[in-house]
Amino acid sequence: MSSPTSLSIKFWGTRGSIPCPGPDTVKYGGNTTCFEIFCGSKRVIIDAGTGIRLLGKQIMIEEQNLLNADLFFTHTHMDHIQGLPFFAPLYNANSDVRLHAGHLAGDKYDLHGIIGTMLMKDPVFPVPSSLIEKACSFNDYDCGHEFDLDGGILIKTGQLNHPNGACGYRIEFEGKIIAICTDTEHYEGRIDDNVVALAKDADVMVYDAAYTEESYPNFKGWGHSTWQEAIKVADAANVKQTFLFHHDPSHSDVVMDKIAKEVALIRGGVRPAIEGETVVI
Ligand SMILES: [Zn+2]
Ligand SMILES: [Zn+2]
Repeated sequence: MSSPTSLSIKFWGTRGSIPCPGPDTVKYGGNTTCFEIFCGSKRVIIDAGTGIRLLGKQIMIEEQNLLNADLFFTHTHMDHIQGLPFFAPLYNANSDVRLHAGHLAGDKYDLHGIIGTMLMKDPVFPVPSSLIEKACSFNDYDCGHEFDLDGGILIKTGQLNHPNGACGYRIEFEGKIIAICTDTEHYEGRIDDNVVALAKDADVMVYDAAYTEESYPNFKGWGHSTWQEAIKVADAANVKQTFLFHHDPSHSDVVMDKIAKEVALIRGGVRPAIEGETVVI
């Protein structure tokens, strides 16, 4: 948070699929998805992968573990929710954290069901969800819904192309725009209009680039995209800064550095997201 009119994003987790800490992932990070966005002084969190544990630790140390925020899930695959039981502010009954998911319409589980009967339920996890429920509310919305939050924050949502569904986000504040487009797979031969709409004229776009054009054919249908497609979207949507995201666990820092170099030769303002980095608009 830097000024009342600034919009910022911090990457608490950049990795897709599974955490992969170790000497080979020190630079780009090993934690799974979590973004902290400040619209002026108001905090919005997206996803609760393992990166959210470190955000919780910071809130515990600097803010007496008291949190008032909206937390939006892109979807509820494991790499996007597995940090939630380790997010300390949820164990403070005075916190007020509104959890939102938009991909579960028609599913047999709603968001509360997934957290309460799958993630935080014995014998999968020893701490029951009842211990966080004083601090939480659960909101299932239909993807496409727009949230008009206090303080002039507009959050638009749009469907992504991912197994079991996922929602992308477009956060608008003080004329500035951040678009979150992960997890999503591109379509062959045409650009995804939903992704372009989310990212149109964005100052920052986060795009799923788990694969490269060479590796993608091995993973077709798995719900992820490539850095080459990120460039196409950035061009089509007139994006200023693009962050490649959902790094494949097999991509070491050496591989990521190589991707960073290749992409920089083709389009300026595109590079891999780095865990712990904050971008202020
Ligand atoms: Zn994922
Ligand atoms: Zn997923």
